[in-house]
Amino acid sequence: MAEHEHVRVAVIGSGFGGLGAAVRLRREGITDFVVLERAGSVGGTWRDNSYPGCACDVPSHLYSFSFAPNPDWPRTFSGQEHIRAYLEHVADTFGLRPHIRLNHEVVMMRWDGDALRWEIETAQGRLSADVVVSATGPLSDPKTPDIPGLDGFPGKVFHSARWDHDYDLRGKRVAVIGTGASAIQIVPAIQPDVARLTLFQRTPPWVMPRLDRAITGPERWLHRQLPFTGKARRGLLFGIRELQVTAFTKHPNQLGAIESLAKANMAKAIKDPHLRAKLTPSYRIGCKRILLSSSYYPALAQRNVDVVASGLREVRGSTVVAADGTEAEVDAIVFGTGFHVTDMPIAERVVGADGITLAEAWKDGMESLRGATAAGFPNWMTIIGPNTGLGNSSMILMIESQLNYLADYLRQLRVLGGRAALGARASAVHAWNRRVQDRMKRTVWNTGGCDSWYLDANGRNTTIWPGTPSEFRRATRAVNLAEYEVIRARSEQETAGDRTGAVTGAAEAVA
Ligand SMILES: Cc1cc2nc3c(=O)[nH]c(=O)nc-3n(C[C@H](O)[C@H](O)[C@H](O)COP(=O)(O)OP(=O)(O)OC[C@H]3O[C@@H](n4cnc5c(N)ncnc54)[C@H](O)[C@@H]3O)c2cc1C
Repeated sequence: MAEHEHVRVAVIGSGFGGLGAAVRLRREGITDFVVLERAGSVGGTWRDNSYPGCACDVPSHLYSFSFAPNPDWPRTFSGQEHIRAYLEHVADTFGLRPHIRLNHEVVMMRWDGDALRWEIETAQGRLSADVVVSATGPLSDPKTPDIPGLDGFPGKVFHSARWDHDYDLRGKRVAVIGTGASAIQIVPAIQPDVARLTLFQRTPPWVMPRLDRAITGPERWLHRQLPFTGKARRGLLFGIRELQVTAFTKHPNQLGAIESLAKANMAKAIKDPHLRAKLTPSYRIGCKRILLSSSYYPALAQRNVDVVASGLREVRGSTVVAADGTEAEVDAIVFGTGFHVTDMPIAERVVGADGITLAEAWKDGMESLRGATAAGFPNWMTIIGPNTGLGNSSMILMIESQLNYLADYLRQLRVLGGRAALGARASAVHAWNRRVQDRMKRTVWNTGGCDSWYLDANGRNTTIWPGTPSEFRRATRAVNLAEYEVIRARSEQETAGDRTGAVTGAAEAVA
């Protein structure tokens, strides 16, 4: 085998998850690591999504790292360019640049059970690592539906996450497909400029007002001079969302009052009862992500907008045809149709201890231990893995909890000493998932009467964490070694023995 670089840890991805992992590794005193990123710059979600109107929908003071507060957020919900700049700043401030390998798409990873390490093939060559941290993002590979006739469309087509800034939408007839979080930001941003906007809506979202405003100079000054004020602001935002999440997970029947607020938000802007009927959801609020916008409904009420309450069925030349037969001739089609979520693309590229890919192991649905590790894939950990998503709070809270788990995992490996790996026990993975799915039963995501992107092909919710972020934090504070097998190379077993009593591994079988 050709000689190649070996590192202690390979992190894949440079969004919040990957950069957060890199900071944490350095803080744990580990400097022998690389961050492999397929794109030409860091930022993940906030590099790729640059559509007009793109911004976070969790307040910036909560949607940022607790260890890297930014007193200078310009708005309560800051825009994409500011979040992207924040992540670039994190990469600089924490000295991450020397570790980051841009344009290094990971093509394949294989567990070598003899050497107890991952062999990694990237677009720029090979390397190996003792531990892989996969932070490839839950919403990073755009999903465009297979629409008959789309190939023959003579106009412009793009996905919200791959916005073509060279194409001028001004004066054009534009079809927007989808009414999710991205589409509802795009619609009001482009509506004033386009000649006609036809919105294809399969299911209407619940939309609450967005209390977005500029953060004033004195507020910023205060946060800069007295950092505890920024902390207090974050704490307040955290507490409010913690209560909201509790309603989603334990008391969905109490969400009716919130529905009334959302209906009032709609009624204020939409005077046409026919349009209001089209836009009124028939499922419990919270079942799909609650969207925040104070400009979406006003945009839909404009004369140059048509709402088609049906999905896109086919494209005939330059005519888009809805499932209900509605037709419109357009110059451009913008897909706001989301991402590959429950079929995590990186899973096709990971071959574990049993010689099968993670995608094969997950053919009946994703399952991991504490959202991080998977049976048969030793020393492989995912950030924002199965059932770590949040309905309406900051994903950064979940990422930071997973970083605590990662840090303890690496500490445990160090304590074991020598060449060792930890493999999640299948029984522990199943027990964890049984608990998660049990708790899921009473949440709004399962009882709310909607079909959402949180559910996989079998209708199982493998995306959302059915508790509060603080419950997840407690569940991931430390690695419970009883949930893992300690895997050692044969030579190690002879000299060091097994400190926990469980020794397995291909190396053992070979010897
Ligand atoms: C438009 C939009 C708005 C959002 N707003 C919010 C919000 O307000 N609040 C919230 O909590 N969450 C929000 N999210 C969710 C958001 O994705 C997460 O909060 C967070 O940014 C995810 O970070 P990540 O690092 O896990 O993934 P990402 O930011 O997606 O980063 C993954 C990185 O991995 C890289 N990668 C993928 N595959 C490979 C490979 N094979 N090899 C090498 N590199 C690879 C990608 O290029 C990317 O840079 C939003 C998502 C979108 C799309």
